[in-house]
Amino acid sequence: MQQKESEDAVSMNYAEIKKTDVANGPGIRVSLFVSGCTHRCRGCFNSEAWDFDYGQEYTEETEREILQALAPDYIRGLSVLGGEPMEPENRGTVLRLLRAVRKQFPGKDIWCYTGYGYEKDLLCRGTFSEQAKGDGTEADYAETMEVLRMLDVLVDGEFVEGQKNLSLAFRGSENQRLIDVQASLRQGETICRRTEKLFPALSGEAYG
Ligand code: SF4
Repeated sequence: MQQKESEDAVSMNYAEIKKTDVANGPGIRVSLFVSGCTHRCRGCFNSEAWDFDYGQEYTEETEREILQALAPDYIRGLSVLGGEPMEPENRGTVLRLLRAVRKQFPGKDIWCYTGYGYEKDLLCRGTFSEQAKGDGTEADYAETMEVLRMLDVLVDGEFVEGQKNLSLAFRGSENQRLIDVQASLRQGETICRRTEKLFPALSGEAYG
């Protein structure tokens, strides 16, 4: 598989970086909210970030800032959300960040939030390319798969207002799933985390 040159992979805007986030995954996390999303879910909490030009330009300095923020021992991991990290316009830059995080912090976990469906959009190369307006090439699919291989948990699916549930942890509507990506890829079937009702403490190692 041919990797993109890191120099041309930085091309994205972002809305915000939270350096001590406790809402988007277990523990204290660094969260990156990217700009740009084509899903346009009714009731979206972050509709200003639908615009790919919203917020600030993501630069190599931004990446360094995120890596620095991840360094303290009390930071459990990185969450990437938006906006839509898996849009073809954002995916290359997100992948570059994930590669760097995996290299520098192999003990930290990585969560990603996407409006796309794990099986129907991301694992299915034809459907994903068409729906996500990717270029439909092998490279497009390979990039998607490399992002997936970097993840611990993928929270998938659009926000569905009719299934909104404020008691859910780490997700907004009932249809969204917490997918254990490593186990899913290893076993060739979708493995979801247990629901938050079964999460004993939402902290430490107890969330799985
Ligand atoms: S996928 Fe997320 S950011 Fe995009 S419209 Fe839906 S809720 Fe909003």
